[in-house]
Amino acid sequence: MKRLAILGATGSIGTQTLQVVDAFPGQFQVVILAGHSNWQLLLRQACQYHPSCVIITEPSAYEKFKQENADKQLVVLCGMSGVLQALEQFPVDMMVGAMSGAAGIEPTLKALELGIDLALANKETLVSGGSLVRRAQQKSGAQILPVDSEHSAIFQCIEPNSSCLHKILLTASGGPFRTWNKEQLSQVTKEQALKHPNWSMGQKITIDSATLMNKGLEVIEANWLFQVDYDHIQVLVHPQSVVHSMVEYGDGTVLAHLGKADMRIPIQYALTWPQRQGNPFPKLDFTQLAGLEFFAPDYEKFPALALAYDVGRTGKSAPAILNGANEVAVAAFLQDKIGFMDIPALVAQVVGCHNPIEIESFAHLIELDQWARQQAWQYVQQHQ
Ligand code: NAD
Ligand code: MG
Repeated sequence: MKRLAILGATGSIGTQTLQVVDAFPGQFQVVILAGHSNWQLLLRQACQYHPSCVIITEPSAYEKFKQENADKQLVVLCGMSGVLQALEQFPVDMMVGAMSGAAGIEPTLKALELGIDLALANKETLVSGGSLVRRAQQKSGAQILPVDSEHSAIFQCIEPNSSCLHKILLTASGGPFRTWNKEQLSQVTKEQALKHPNWSMGQKITIDSATLMNKGLEVIEANWLFQVDYDHIQVLVHPQSVVHSMVEYGDGTVLAHLGKADMRIPIQYALTWPQRQGNPFPKLDFTQLAGLEFFAPDYEKFPALALAYDVGRTGKSAPAILNGANEVAVAAFLQDKIGFMDIPALVAQVVGCHNPIEIESFAHLIELDQWARQQAWQYVQQHQ
């Protein structure tokens, strides 16, 4: 049985990970479950999966959980220190990184340090702390299996030992506002932005998908995961979300990964790799497809994507600044403090004020991340 730690268990990826666990009885053992504030769901999950340890990172939710929990065998811990303690104390074979945002960096580094393989959904960790993650991985030799659907697709299309990988074709649905003009984009409400046409996801990534910042973060994620330079990562808008990404080889061959827009498929692949196993989830019916379209993205209407390319090319601390500023911008938009098009403008402004430097340590990264967040909140205050 593969022993799992699932961080972000109450979120979209976390709950779908548990559906994959359900689909393979006897194959996985849930040892650690961590969530932030939804203690009720975490309690139900604990009753169903009987983990050894549950961590609630939000202190008041932790208190509630402790009051309601009747299982005296269950170890219940609080905060990020609780997550780190659990990873040290309870042996697992794989950690599913499904927290949202930069909160995922510290446990990711801890897991790698302990030699625990990672099923990584939390792209912000790679964008912000890519150099630290890579260093920790090289040191321990632990595997990082991508969960992000595009990166799982690319991972599956990359032939081992191929010497002529030419480029990555990273597909993007284009989000709900693909066909909107600039004037309409400036009026977007959070209710409109929270409705993604093809995927049901957490709020942060749904807003990122609408601004195309998500695709920008994924370009940087692809650079870290596959060591392909930015000139050879091409974003293609593909509104049907059937082709999850492609890899082009030097001989002109293109390998594509197709399937239903169902995150359980890449989650399962990460959990069962290197095996591919049958599952009961719905399959793609080609006779129901009206057609597959591919377009170049509109960088002018969606400046976040161009900004992420620039920042990725700059490297060093620049992507960490972009990520921190973007997390604040999305939170401010969801609180009706700034408009939709202020999101990329805010991030560009904060990135523009920063002089990129090498990230030396985790503590250094946190300092940089905090600086970006402070600058971003200042921008929010000035534009209210
Ligand atoms: P979500 O908002 O549904 O869930 C986030 C989870 O993280 C929750 O369990 C929450 O309790 C936890 N969390 C939030 N803030 C936290 C904090 N400060 N400390 C500790 N835990 C915290 O998000 P999601 O859609 O499941 O996305 C999770 C990650 O996976 C993100 O990085 C996202 O970019 C990535 N991802 C998601 C999808 C998808 O389809 N949902 C696809 C690809 C990648
Ligand atoms: Mg994705």
